Amino acid sequence: MNKYSLENYSRPILQMPHGRKKLLLHSCCAPCAGEIMEAVAASEIDTSIFFYNPNIHPKEEYEIRKDENIRFAKKLGFDFIDADYDKDNWFDRVKGLENEPERGERCTVCFDMRFERTALYAYENKYDVFATTLGISRWKDLNQINNSGLKAANRYNDLAFWDFDWRKQGGSSRMLEISKKEKFYKQEYCGCVYSLRDTNRWRKSNNRDIIKRGINFYEIK
Ligand code: SF4
Repeated sequence: MNKYSLENYSRPILQMPHGRKKLLLHSCCAPCAGEIMEAVAASEIDTSIFFYNPNIHPKEEYEIRKDENIRFAKKLGFDFIDADYDKDNWFDRVKGLENEPERGERCTVCFDMRFERTALYAYENKYDVFATTLGISRWKDLNQINNSGLKAANRYNDLAFWDFDWRKQGGSSRMLEISKKEKFYKQEYCGCVYSLRDTNRWRKSNNRDIIKRGINFYEIK
């Protein structure tokens, strides 16, 4: 088998903040993670992938997104840490926020929960930085994500959150190109049952078909 090539894209060599050395990268899905994983690999940053996303429902959808992420992590030779699917805790934390819109308070609680777990793992396993792939998506509020990340890192001495803007310097377009090249699974909603409900409501009111889970993959056109 040919070794996976990182030479298809030109990108700046990244430096972690404050000369830090060991990165724990929280990953939400393969399409968002693809570009960031390539970028840190090309920059020779010592990285492990941390998959902790109890917000993804139902379980079959969670497994598809995780498997796609594992597939690409293997290709690049990254360690992949598969954390708990403690969705009951997730539902407890967002109780009362079921009708919040995307980017609202429920999403803050969702980011907080995922990053608190990531920060704890980083601290316990001697990573000195953590980051997340969530912010590369144009559907997300980067400030909201960075605030949650910084809050989680501040719980521990000697742990930093890397609030790099992955969309810049061509990151957004490479994200799409890599997704097509790798034929990643292309999810059509953020993750939780509430985002699935709201996306389908919007689709129905705009005379569009509702989401069909598990069948849509990026294609090169
Ligand atoms: S919409 Fe996305 S970020 Fe917001 S709560 Fe649901 S899964 Fe979490």
